[in-house]
Amino acid sequence: MIIVMKHGAGEEQINEVISLIEKLGYKSHLSKGVERTIIGVIGHKDKSPLQAFASLDSVESVIPILKPFKLASIEMKRERTEIDVDGVSIGGEKIAVIAGPCSVESEEQIVRIAHSVKNAGAQMLRGGAYKPRTSPYSFQGLEEDGLRFLKRAKDETGLRIVTEIVAIGDIDLLVEYVDMIQIGARNCQNFALLKAVGQTQKPVLFKRGMSTTVKEYLQAAEYILSEGNPNVVLCERGIRTFEDSTRNTLDLGAVALLKKWSHLPVVVDPSHGTGVRDLVIPMSRAAVAAGADGLIIEVHDRPEEAFSDGPQSLKPDKFAECLRETAKIAEAMGRRL
Ligand code: PEP
Ligand code: MN
Repeated sequence: MIIVMKHGAGEEQINEVISLIEKLGYKSHLSKGVERTIIGVIGHKDKSPLQAFASLDSVESVIPILKPFKLASIEMKRERTEIDVDGVSIGGEKIAVIAGPCSVESEEQIVRIAHSVKNAGAQMLRGGAYKPRTSPYSFQGLEEDGLRFLKRAKDETGLRIVTEIVAIGDIDLLVEYVDMIQIGARNCQNFALLKAVGQTQKPVLFKRGMSTTVKEYLQAAEYILSEGNPNVVLCERGIRTFEDSTRNTLDLGAVALLKKWSHLPVVVDPSHGTGVRDLVIPMSRAAVAAGADGLIIEVHDRPEEAFSDGPQSLKPDKFAECLRETAKIAEAMGRRL
């Protein structure tokens, strides 16, 4: 449940509510908005102590949250959340653009592609250093070398870096090297990993699992939030359906629904969402029309030589065209790209 404080409630009254929450054995979550202060009551007891709070003078109202996710919910926070990734905002008026190859393949490759996506208008660079491959015989990533090469690309271009984590043991290394940690579709419900990333303050690009429902997905996001990391960006990247002409089915309905149910920003990945290069531009346009706050797009200048996901990677000139096309939709939506 959430406790809405009266307008003008002071520090002392807020603290009074927080200590009562803790005395009753719950965890509190303070959210100070421009309009009002909300305090979340987090816990898993059967009976909620609604009455204890409703009678306090400083409390405007007590609202039960019926959804299975709380901190991620729009009831908890009416204002849309903007996540700051080392100075790049995700969730504001400007649509964030993240681009780069599926995998970091060499220092020269990542720096070269970083320059081309930067020139086309990206603010962030993607590239996997630890790859969660379906087959153990496929390229698994350059690991710490890959992180160093990404850092080098940032130093040269200023692009903020996002890369995927696959094991809890790598957290300290990623926190040191990158600006944002990606949790991939395959780890969407790896709760131990979610909790561990939740114990850092690093922004998280949290991808939807290929078979998680929107409700399950938001509950998974809650694992990160409830550990104390509020910097979660959701990412729709396609789900498994009966359709086999595309790699996944990009669920743009989920984008609109996530924006209705949650205050967290939503990024769309049309590359994994379709698996088909020619569909990336139309789906980028559609994603922005559906309310996406950002795009993550795979770009490779030699896709035929790419170690992974070449068939869905755009060449830099097509990527530039993608941003030009999508900018028109952004403008129609009252946003900027
Ligand atoms: C990726 O971003 O390269 C990736 C593996 O994505 P996903 O987890 O969405 O499959
Ligand atoms: Mn990929």
